[in-house]
Amino acid sequence: TMFESLGNKLQDILDKLRHESKLTEAQVKAAMREIRMALLEADVNFSVAKDFVARVTEKAVGQEVMGSLNAGQMVVKIVNDELIETLGGQAKQPTLKNEGNIFFMVGLQGAGKTTSTGKLAQYYKSKGRRVLLVAADTQRPAARDQLKILGQQVGVPVLEVANGETPAETKRKLEAHLQSDYRDLIIVDTAGRLQIDEALMDQLADLKGALSPTETLLVVDAMTGQEALNVAETFESRIGLSGLIITKMDGDARGGAALSARFVTGKPIYFAGVSEKLSGLEPFYPDRVAGRILGMGDVLGLIERAQQADLQSMEIKKPGEFDLEDLLQQLRQIRKMGPLGDLMRMIPGMSRALPPEFNVDDKQVQRIDAMISSMTLKERRNPKIIDGKRRKRIATGSGTTVQDINRLLKMHEQMKDMMKMLQRMGMGGAGGKGGK
Ligand code: GDP
Repeated sequence: TMFESLGNKLQDILDKLRHESKLTEAQVKAAMREIRMALLEADVNFSVAKDFVARVTEKAVGQEVMGSLNAGQMVVKIVNDELIETLGGQAKQPTLKNEGNIFFMVGLQGAGKTTSTGKLAQYYKSKGRRVLLVAADTQRPAARDQLKILGQQVGVPVLEVANGETPAETKRKLEAHLQSDYRDLIIVDTAGRLQIDEALMDQLADLKGALSPTETLLVVDAMTGQEALNVAETFESRIGLSGLIITKMDGDARGGAALSARFVTGKPIYFAGVSEKLSGLEPFYPDRVAGRILGMGDVLGLIERAQQADLQSMEIKKPGEFDLEDLLQQLRQIRKMGPLGDLMRMIPGMSRALPPEFNVDDKQVQRIDAMISSMTLKERRNPKIIDGKRRKRIATGSGTTVQDINRLLKMHEQMKDMMKMLQRMGMGGAGGKGGK
């Protein structure tokens, strides 16, 4: 998945520091050289990487950190903070007034502009907005048809421009439509090209001038790496942008474009596209993304998904009582929340504890079921008593290996930690029935 390789490298580098109570300047500098390499290998923009490392070094080599009792932990925190900063700091969303909102969608062909337009329509419709889509590609009827289909799926009207229509005509058409059908958010899907094209830029600038949108959103494809940023800079200088949507964050892009976009363009990333489906759009939270990269988990994201899945039935006991039977029951319930591997990766420490082969899909849940079923009741209640000999027996009994058993027990420990954390946050557990 995206950021996987970068995340693993950063985590390895930081793990070496994490447990050091005292750090020398030389140790910090050596770590920073490694971090810089890791960033560049992930296709992060050169000056972004350089600047990032300079900021971390400056803070980490400060007196307080070097002399402090847990210097390693503090460096980890500084890296996390600076990563959040690089990704944009506070999460930002497009500005929405009560009415008269116009989002102007721009981007290269294939970036996911039309799909994202449909996703935004669904997102804002679900928030109670009256959305109108405008299919404003004046040259490609196929592009307009694609948007019409999306509009149908979401259940919002689609206003189509005609071939060769001028911006002034489009504006009049839009106004006439709004007279008879009141809408408070208009999302305009514009023409795209495979490459930056002067004629297209002029055309988009004209249409933007006529419509005076409240937001101009550039859709960029995370898979295209640094090229995406060159594109962004051109769009910014020719059309002017207010924010970005980064698509295909579910792919295995190295992540450099997403990491560099904010810094290079100076524009916030509003949303991330995370699947081909209409529901595959998420507000972009720099802190959560940083947490995911550094393997610190995305507890908030997890909670949100749990809430979406409406797992009100999910009973969670006090963390001390969370045993393997509870784990099994939860795994079965969590499966309803979506691809389990993704979810597990949001749990602190889990992204690393969970090697790719341990993808928790249905089959894996069955295996865990088999493993837990091979344990005695006493062992399920108190896994600590499972020694090496028993692990071997359980593995044989469940047709798995001792490593599988070890991983399961580790996962259980981590979930227990998460329960504790959720409880401290007053959540009482993911979707549980309030803090107890
Ligand atoms: P446009 O030419 O910019 O309008 O691009 P489209 O909206 O037609 O999207 C191009 C392709 O990318 C389509 O196959 C989409 O399904 C796919 N796509 C768009 N956004 C995402 C995303 O966030 N994740 C994934 N996996 N695919 C996406």
